Amino acid sequence: MVDYKSLGLVNTREMFKRAINGGYAIPAFNFNNMEQLQAIIKASSDLKSPVILQVSKGARNYANATLLRYMAQGAVAYAKELGCEHPEIALHLDHGDSFETCKSCVDYGFSSVMIDGSSLPYEENIALTKKVVDYAHQFDVTVEAELGVLAGVEDDVVAAESHYTKPEEVIDFATRTGCDSLAISIGTSHGAYKFTPEQCTRDPKTGKLIPPPLAFDVLDAIMEKLPGFPIVLHGSSSVPQEYVDIINEHGGKLPDAVGIPEEQLRKASKSAVCKINIDSDSRLAFTAAVRKTLAEKPGEFDPRKYCGPARDEMEKMYKHKITDVLGSDNKLAE
Ligand SMILES: [Zn+2]
Repeated sequence: MVDYKSLGLVNTREMFKRAINGGYAIPAFNFNNMEQLQAIIKASSDLKSPVILQVSKGARNYANATLLRYMAQGAVAYAKELGCEHPEIALHLDHGDSFETCKSCVDYGFSSVMIDGSSLPYEENIALTKKVVDYAHQFDVTVEAELGVLAGVEDDVVAAESHYTKPEEVIDFATRTGCDSLAISIGTSHGAYKFTPEQCTRDPKTGKLIPPPLAFDVLDAIMEKLPGFPIVLHGSSSVPQEYVDIINEHGGKLPDAVGIPEEQLRKASKSAVCKINIDSDSRLAFTAAVRKTLAEKPGEFDPRKYCGPARDEMEKMYKHKITDVLGSDNKLAE
């Protein structure tokens, strides 16, 4: 059993409370390699932002669970070296699919876990979530649950259709499970293809897709039922068209990739939405930089020479999200 506090990590309780009261959102950036972790810590430390290091089950398998724990511990030390005396870094399991996965993460030093029972019947979702909450809370680990279904593909999580969260269910669900935060479905979606062309309109000038707006009326209704309760948005990458263009201009093939406009995320950040998940955008930044570097320097074979620019591009993107979209800069507790 590894206590996350001994690793220098924090759970999400305090950072969420401040984010709701302060009208901003905490970034939850997924990572599975060293360059992503470096970029996340550099960006959040330079900007004095709390941050959630998010790991999916697939990423945990990719990086190795033991190594990952030490990477998170190293991240805290690195943040201090960068001048953050008291960094606020949470290590969070994204889309835990079973009690066993969540328990394993709690036992391995995670400070927060998500149990995703959203594909289960309502009562089964409640039972599973409560079981995880009962275990995690013994160790002061915070638990995110999910109600409603997001469309899209993310590692092992696949759903063809989305179903908005039903506001009439949230009080019962939050009370009976004891979860600390709730991921909801209001039209965000996993992956780089969040919407089909049929769901979008097309900009007549550029030919680019314009996605349908988020269901802020559903969010408002949920906030009315659960005032001050931390709400989480998954699938909230914006799929920057400049990255898509760079990828497509350098041998890639991402036709009609489309994300959530930053303006809508900015609006959501000011509400009870206090955690916004961003994964695809860092994948796109990484891939765009690698493709461009290798195309321009075909003789290059030192991974540092193309992973380095990829890391710089991700750091730039993370900083932009923190400062210009979520507003979590200069929000450390001290
Ligand atoms: Zn998700």
